[in-house]
Amino acid sequence: MDKLNLYEVLGVTKDATSEEIKKNYRKLAKEFHPDKNPDSGEKFKEISFAYEVLSDPEKRRIYDRYGVKGLQEGADGYSDASDFFAQWFPFGGATSDRSRRDGKIMVKLELTLEEIYVGGAQKPVEYKRQKLCDQCNGDGGPKEARLECEACGGVGRTAAFTFMGLSAFDAVCPTCDGRGFTIKEKMRCKLCTGSGFVEQQMKRNVDVERGVPHMLKLPFANEGHQLRSGEFGDLYVIIVQAEHAVFQRRHANLYMRDLQINITEALCGYTHCFKHLDGRNVCMTTQPGEVLRHNHIKKMRSGGMPVFNKPTDHGDLYVQFKVILPANDFATQPQLAMLEDLLPPRERIVVPPGAEEVHMTDYKPQTRQARTDTEDDDDYNGQSPHFESVQCQTA
Ligand SMILES: [Zn+2]
Ligand SMILES: [Zn+2]
Repeated sequence: MDKLNLYEVLGVTKDATSEEIKKNYRKLAKEFHPDKNPDSGEKFKEISFAYEVLSDPEKRRIYDRYGVKGLQEGADGYSDASDFFAQWFPFGGATSDRSRRDGKIMVKLELTLEEIYVGGAQKPVEYKRQKLCDQCNGDGGPKEARLECEACGGVGRTAAFTFMGLSAFDAVCPTCDGRGFTIKEKMRCKLCTGSGFVEQQMKRNVDVERGVPHMLKLPFANEGHQLRSGEFGDLYVIIVQAEHAVFQRRHANLYMRDLQINITEALCGYTHCFKHLDGRNVCMTTQPGEVLRHNHIKKMRSGGMPVFNKPTDHGDLYVQFKVILPANDFATQPQLAMLEDLLPPRERIVVPPGAEEVHMTDYKPQTRQARTDTEDDDDYNGQSPHFESVQCQTA
């Protein structure tokens, strides 16, 4: 899969338009659909994968830049870094059995949104890797010190116990690490205590590119663990974007939510200045006479992040306003009368004769804890009880 040319799979050129990609995908998907063509399951999978990547502009850019490797296993689709790392380091250790076998190392590099916006920085990444011991050439001791491994009888492989029970596949013998022999205790290499491996402290700089996506995996060939064979696995630096106090990011777009404005600003005009991610001051102003509504969303074209791999383009900035109304008794009765002259008229109400007049009281949502004692409605979200559940019942 790593060497797959996704453009070839879909029979299009590298500069194909999204229309061409869609057209060829439809044609090929029909032709190789497993219902019609039971032997072409693999081919169908490749076609689906190629379409999934090339039809998504961001995934396509990542593929153009880093190939399939850049997309695999987590460049996309993980909402949060801990989910993502959990699958690589299921037991919390940095060296899983898996990484020992293929030598793969994952290191995360956390970047601020400012660093991603501006780009150009070099950030250091430090990690430890295993390397064959120089003292004993990775043998762990002299040849005459070798003892046949008792655990695997010198084969180097044993049946594997997993938490699901005995696995059907055999695995590398943990006692001898697949070598089939152990080293007599007294003759073990001092430097590596007979394992053949030593730990090496590594440091490298990573160039931060403008607009680099969250969770992107940057591959560095042969910078991972060294294997028994002498070959090196790969290092992957995973870009993790830190949360930002003002902006949220989705691909190249930025979002500023719940920007609070008061009613005067909402009605009479509004200016808001903020420091953008590159430090420049930006001011937004409403048009004369324009009213800003609660939850209204405004867009600043090209006010977003630089587009990865195409940094002359920018995404957009979306701003959502939250109108804050004044507190009780903010004005006297005569002032309110003046205000009413300016505002749109109230609805005319005719009170039916003999109508009962009731007073409303403020509703304060209870906390979930207090409420579970008395009611057992799980749909409660702490904000507006019953309204949702009533809607659900009528649906
Ligand atoms: Zn050694
Ligand atoms: Zn063994």
